[in-house]
Amino acid sequence: MKSNSIKADLHIHTHFSFDSLAVPENVLKAAVKRGLNAIAITDHNELAGALEAAAIAKQQRLPVQVIIGEEVATDKGDLLVYFVKKKILPGTLERVLSDVKKQGAVSCAAHPYDKVRHGIQLEALEPRLLANIDAIEAFNSRVTLPSHNVRALRFAQKHGKAVLAGSDAHHPLEVGSAAVEFIGVKKLDKRSVILSSREVKAKLSSPLVHFLSRYAVLKKRLRRKKENILK
Ligand SMILES: [Zn+2]
Repeated sequence: MKSNSIKADLHIHTHFSFDSLAVPENVLKAAVKRGLNAIAITDHNELAGALEAAAIAKQQRLPVQVIIGEEVATDKGDLLVYFVKKKILPGTLERVLSDVKKQGAVSCAAHPYDKVRHGIQLEALEPRLLANIDAIEAFNSRVTLPSHNVRALRFAQKHGKAVLAGSDAHHPLEVGSAAVEFIGVKKLDKRSVILSSREVKAKLSSPLVHFLSRYAVLKKRLRRKKENILK
């Protein structure tokens, strides 16, 4: 890490997501081990994992900033939100963006173009909605096709949007496979996430990681079945 810069993975899931078994404490351990200075926990329509991770980081005085985030499902596709104070409920992109604004949070289109993973089709967005999206995830380690990342980066550059990146980790092993290095920044806040200069360092995940989240879904389904039998 360069002095006076922050290396951050801005898209991480925990077991509070339906497709992950990752425990917040292990995600934090992985983040510290990989030299990240900040992580955003972005569970599907849920803040509990992010809040738990932030509490653990504070309690154990870990050298990693935890950004309270969420990956909110909208009618146009998934939207990452950062610096959230209160859980944002899924719904229309218009309403979700208005909630983001009310909370003074930051919004970012997650894995755009990736239809399999509910990415927003950016060109199809009404300009007034696009204007309210702060950033574009221009690198996601788990995209279905690498060309989705290329298109997302091009779109962000063309429309002057901040570029962000994340591993989309569903397992601690994946934490840090994509990171943004914010230059000349000591701590991330809304302003620095959108306005500071940055470098993206990232690699695509191996196909194995999709197997890991598939495994997580199956294991949770089995657990639910067992609970029903016991009732
Ligand atoms: Zn995700």
